[in-house]
Amino acid sequence: MIPKFPDLESAAHAAIDLTEARALLDRFAGLTRESGSADERAAGEYIAARLRALGVPVTVHEPELFLSVPERAALRVLDGGAEAAAAGFHCRPPAFARSTGDAELAGELVYVPSHYAGGTADLFDTPMAAAGAGGGPVAGRIVLTEGYSMPGAVHAFERRGAAGQIFIHPGDAVHEGICTPIWGAPTHESIQRKPRTPVVCVSHADGDRLIGLARAGARVGIRTWLREGWAPCVLPVAEIRGADDPDEFVLVHGHYDSWYVGIGDNATGDAALLELARVLQGLAGRLRRTVRIAWWPGHSTGRYAGSVWYADHFADALDEWCVAHLNIDSPGCAGATAYEEVMWMAEAAELCIDSIADAVGVFARGMRPLRAGDYSFNQIGPTAFYMLLSNIPQEERRARGYYAVGGCGGNPAWHTPGDGPAVADLDVLRRDLQIYLTTILRVANAPIHPFDYGASVAEMAGVVGRYQEAAAGEVDLAPVVEDLRALRADIGRWRNEAERLVNAAPDDAALRRRVNATLRRLARVLVPLNYARGERFDHDPAVKLPAVPRLEAAALLASAAPALKPFVRTALVRERNKVRAMLRDARRLLAGPDGPVG
Ligand SMILES: [Zn+2]
Repeated sequence: MIPKFPDLESAAHAAIDLTEARALLDRFAGLTRESGSADERAAGEYIAARLRALGVPVTVHEPELFLSVPERAALRVLDGGAEAAAAGFHCRPPAFARSTGDAELAGELVYVPSHYAGGTADLFDTPMAAAGAGGGPVAGRIVLTEGYSMPGAVHAFERRGAAGQIFIHPGDAVHEGICTPIWGAPTHESIQRKPRTPVVCVSHADGDRLIGLARAGARVGIRTWLREGWAPCVLPVAEIRGADDPDEFVLVHGHYDSWYVGIGDNATGDAALLELARVLQGLAGRLRRTVRIAWWPGHSTGRYAGSVWYADHFADALDEWCVAHLNIDSPGCAGATAYEEVMWMAEAAELCIDSIADAVGVFARGMRPLRAGDYSFNQIGPTAFYMLLSNIPQEERRARGYYAVGGCGGNPAWHTPGDGPAVADLDVLRRDLQIYLTTILRVANAPIHPFDYGASVAEMAGVVGRYQEAAAGEVDLAPVVEDLRALRADIGRWRNEAERLVNAAPDDAALRRRVNATLRRLARVLVPLNYARGERFDHDPAVKLPAVPRLEAAALLASAAPALKPFVRTALVRERNKVRAMLRDARRLLAGPDGPVG
């Protein structure tokens, strides 16, 4: 069902030449690309200069982004005896923790045992230890717990009244990170959700010492220094115009800011984007649609601030014309030969599995995209795929004793000073580039957008079926299940008819564009329905979201306290009404007076 372009795809693979990639990695190895810094600007200008030299049209935007840059932190024991007081701790504050400056926060240390993420998929979970009442009372105290200071955990401890927070990382290194749940630039309303407590992270060994001190009733003092505010950044976007349907575009993107020199996360991705621009420009006359390639600043210290700025300021074009977006983060890392945890939306599964198999001969396994990375477009609604791509095989990571990280192909150098040139491998990058090119060419050139929205509806039907069981006897979700069944049948019929018409008249550009416009409108309903809780054009917080998040209240019903149940029921009825309205809109799109051409 997915059209392939063997000649074009092999021409693209043959054109891969890693000279530009190598030069970019060399240059970026000398740039600490902290957002708002001179090094980040130099990196952005380097990308723009290389694009110009290669003859690729580029626009350089200069957005003001809201950033929080961690400078340093200090942690000391106040009354654990001379020995404890003498021993220093290496600690780092995550971006958007409260900055105390010199005004030390002192408090009783309380240990709340938790656990580490088992894999990429649960990195963003909020551990029960934080959300529940684990470890006893924490109000007014400084919490000590395991994990990466993710926003869900930080927020949960604040709700319980913690005055400060210390997160114990799983290994010897302290990984940089960000703890705000606010996705991109805050609004005057969402700024209220910014973390209010000072937060620091320590190594596993220091964590063990602190656990002992907590059990002995020690008090500690923490200080954090962070620079917060709006800063001008550079955001280059290259554009390779399509020959036939140039308004329609595929957005390919990744961040170029980094922690330290960030070679595996994400200089390799930046090199991939540059090589894609070079190769695709060479094939320009053979692309049906436009490919836009964007390099984001502000990912690490602005919670995806660059891609959010682009979503906010190019919302009209993205809504009307974006066919799909493809995120590139941490490809090309040493030892990353497996494609076991590749993210794609259900409607893109066949496209991605086929593209990876055809490009590198590996059968890939997929997962639902997390509410993470630069997936800042879910509330506009283009289909999306990839984020992290190749990884060190899971078995190999287990054998090496690696713990879960969020990039660098699974290498624990992720977000540490260790993420240097040795983390990259150009042979792996070449394989990843073959995958990116194959996938992009199929999306850019398929006569009809190659996404099976019936698969997306089937995924939602499975989830809603479980919500229906959970809400049985409280709120009737059977009508939603029935709507989804009917919509899936409509999509199947519509697609067959659309393919028949377009195949019968391959030169009818107006017909093809109308068919594709309808598919994009369908995606604008289904992607937000499957991936968002809030309104379109807004940005949900950076906390884990289940599928069809609007109906998640169903899962709360069974365990809700009796007094709370009527409130949850009320919410769920309203959400059911919104979901049904969205599904009616989707069905109406496919039932125009002329079917696929209406
Ligand atoms: Zn990254």
